[in-house]
Amino acid sequence: MNLSHLIDGKPFESGTARWGDVFNPSRGEVIARVPMGGAAEVDAAVQAAGRAFRTWSVLPVPRRASVLFEYKRLLEQHADELARLVTRENGKTLDEARGDVRRGIEVVDFACGVAQLTKGESLPQVAEQIDAVTMREPIGVCAGITPFNFPAMVPMWMFPLAIACGNTFVLKPSEKVPLTALRLAELFSAAGLPPGVFNVVHGGREVVDALCTHPGVAAVSFVGSSGVAKHVYTLASAQGKRCQAAGGAKNVLLVMPDAEPDSTLRAILGSSFGCAGQRCMAGSVLMGVGRKTADAWREHVSSALAGLKLDDTSANDAAGMGPVIDRVAQKRVVGVVDAAAAAGADLAYRGAAPERGFFVGPTLLDRVEPQMSVFQEEVFGPVLSLVRPETLDEAIATMNRLSFGNGASIFTSSGAAARQFTREIQCGMLGINVGVPAPMALFSFSGWNASFYGDLHVQGAEGVLFYTRQRVVLSRWDKGYVRAQGW
Ligand code: NAD
Repeated sequence: MNLSHLIDGKPFESGTARWGDVFNPSRGEVIARVPMGGAAEVDAAVQAAGRAFRTWSVLPVPRRASVLFEYKRLLEQHADELARLVTRENGKTLDEARGDVRRGIEVVDFACGVAQLTKGESLPQVAEQIDAVTMREPIGVCAGITPFNFPAMVPMWMFPLAIACGNTFVLKPSEKVPLTALRLAELFSAAGLPPGVFNVVHGGREVVDALCTHPGVAAVSFVGSSGVAKHVYTLASAQGKRCQAAGGAKNVLLVMPDAEPDSTLRAILGSSFGCAGQRCMAGSVLMGVGRKTADAWREHVSSALAGLKLDDTSANDAAGMGPVIDRVAQKRVVGVVDAAAAAGADLAYRGAAPERGFFVGPTLLDRVEPQMSVFQEEVFGPVLSLVRPETLDEAIATMNRLSFGNGASIFTSSGAAARQFTREIQCGMLGINVGVPAPMALFSFSGWNASFYGDLHVQGAEGVLFYTRQRVVLSRWDKGYVRAQGW
């Protein structure tokens, strides 16, 4: 199946000579071909979005909201179909895919409240005879560039809120998972969204760079790896555009001696091996404080991994862990484990992987040291590194050596340990006895350091600020104006 860009409500055939393969990662089979666009497709999409902005941005806010309400209804109705599509092109299990879709729908739910979210403020008599009013207004054509790991949720962090706020949008989904994005666009159109308000352009770096430099684009939202996040932020902001760019991560799960064992084990497995470790909030470092704790968790995790099933996620609803996204990722992750073992890490557990598809056996590395690259760099696969600090202070100091600042969790029964952790960790999203402390749509996704470039984060209240700008109106209507009319 050859896919198309979606511009001005219609498939856009660009006659491109370059195509990419889209795989079912569970089987390693090609399921579609995606056109790799460039500056011409970006220009067509931005022009269409610019035309649509003229009418969409001035539509009464409740009428925009009513399209969002209908979109939410359609997404709920098609949630299972969307989850199966996510599983097919991304490889995550159906349960995980349902979560991906559900988290996206939560943003649409939040965006339905656009009237309340974008209300301004007023202060009568701010000065003698002068009243002040603020209003939040849309900013224009917004662009979104998204990664492969959440084909539904991450695009939906961006476009529903941007569009609800009165902007129009050009999405460049990951070329590895274009099918879900196209289906999300079709459903939005079926909900009554006018043509040109939401456009999809496929491709890679050429499309990204064209979006970041096109004079018709007002704002760029990016989610992906840190290197590309920094590139996008630098390029877009140099053109005077607003930019929010969320990057990669290295998230630590810190287990204290007094952690509750059963829920902690479930949280570690879900965080580190759920979505085959391909979450920006995946726990990829396990710290057991004190030798006895570390020894015990090496045993708990290794035996749980021995029971983890790896299976074709597109055929088996109950699969335990899916594959990684493609052959390149598979080779890279296996290479990271081999290099870590060669650098002195102790291979505590390495599971077998099925022959077909892009599976990687779940792996636990013990005695990982902070100077090793497996500690410092994002692996983005089912690999957990066990680090053995003696004290909470040492654990926190070691964590704070990481360049990233996305997420970290502590598992403990001690309020004092939890408080020290939440006050001292240099990181934006923290969990206390929670394995994946990803905020729901009501809150912004708050990465720090090399995990985020920009100012206002995606979704939640900061998302609303990002997609709107403030106008302040001061008016003086003193009685002299009435008297001048002779009334
Ligand atoms: P990626 O950086 O390779 O790709 C992201 C997007 O950028 C894609 O649309 C891709 O086409 C484009 N791109 C890739 N290379 C480019 C280049 N050189 N120049 C311009 N554009 C380029 O990321 P990925 O592999 O798709 O996704 C995994 C990464 O995303 C991980 O690092 C993960 O931590 C991160 N991520 C972060 C968050 C967050 O909220 N911080 C959420 C999800 C994923």
